[in-house]
Amino acid sequence: MEFIDLKQQYLRHREILDRAMAGVASSARYINGPQVAELEETLAGMVGAREAVGMGSGTDALLVALLALGLKPGDEVVCPAFTFIAAAEAIVLLGGRPVFAEVEEAGAMVTRETVEQALTEKTVGIIPVDLFGQCAPLEELGELARERGLWMIEDAAQSLGASRNGAMAGSFGHIAITSFYPAKPLGCMGEGGMAFTGDPDLAFRMRGLRAHGDASGYEHVRLGLNARLDTIQAAILLAKLSFFEEEVRLRNQAAQVYEEVLSNIPGLRLPALLPGNTSVWAQYTVRAEQRTELTAHLREQGIPTAIHYPKPLHRQPVFQDLGLDQGNFPTAERLSGEVLSLPMHPYLTRDQQELVAREIAGFMGKG
Ligand SMILES: *Cc1c(COP(=O)(O)O)cnc(C)c1O
Repeated sequence: MEFIDLKQQYLRHREILDRAMAGVASSARYINGPQVAELEETLAGMVGAREAVGMGSGTDALLVALLALGLKPGDEVVCPAFTFIAAAEAIVLLGGRPVFAEVEEAGAMVTRETVEQALTEKTVGIIPVDLFGQCAPLEELGELARERGLWMIEDAAQSLGASRNGAMAGSFGHIAITSFYPAKPLGCMGEGGMAFTGDPDLAFRMRGLRAHGDASGYEHVRLGLNARLDTIQAAILLAKLSFFEEEVRLRNQAAQVYEEVLSNIPGLRLPALLPGNTSVWAQYTVRAEQRTELTAHLREQGIPTAIHYPKPLHRQPVFQDLGLDQGNFPTAERLSGEVLSLPMHPYLTRDQQELVAREIAGFMGKG
């Protein structure tokens, strides 16, 4: 059993994927080929954003977004204590200071209240992260940002294709970013990312910043990065978009089967969606007592699992100079000790899921 079965996806859709790659190879337009703009237009339409800007990765998109918003050394940006490191990392790399906000139990994401508690007079913006495939409470967070004169970046690296009260992930905030890392719900065959915005000035700035701040023909108006999306990745993504909706449906079906077969196992808590949310199930992350022993048992039975994430950000060695300690974010700390992601991809079979459930139930029963 695979944790995420990318090989199977390739074999099932080999013909259109190979054709997409061969098309770019023979065109030789490896950088800034027409597929990049076509993908930008398609995804802007899907998300409901005015503009989309292709990037070399989700992390590149975060760096470029922060540069476009004018982050300065010493500026504070609020981001979650429990999530992947990329947003906090990008803030620090540009001289800013990440200020962590506690997450709530149900969705493991920040709320208006927890972000509000983290604001100071130095705060310039907030970066809520959509976790495991569903959106954070982004309307309330956007409202808070507006009230306080802050910018907001939605980190939609795990949620592209999901919606919240009818609005698509990637449509919130001054800028939203996403990632096409292979394991994400819409993944390419290497690194890739995108930024979305409703603001044409920000879009213009980001287009420059992703190519060394080049305004036109080696006229550098600001310093940027090499953060472009490869043409071949854009072509692969355009091909994958032809079956993306179907894969999201299959992921939701798999989540439903898990909910059925994993219900009523003592000591196991299943993921829940916030009201108004749909999910693309980037991860199916349960919470389990005795996680270490359960993980070892599942591994012995050939069932792969992963931990997203074993250590909250305020406990990461690299952030120790922020002066935070164990006990600062109790929910983030508890989640880090209990979360366990189970195999999740569109081609998981009911038999495989029943096996996962049987092994978990058998182990938890023994306790
Ligand atoms: C994957 C991910 C990123 C980074 O994306 P890359 O394309 O790997 O750089 C950022 N934020 C979150 C929440 C992610 O899951």
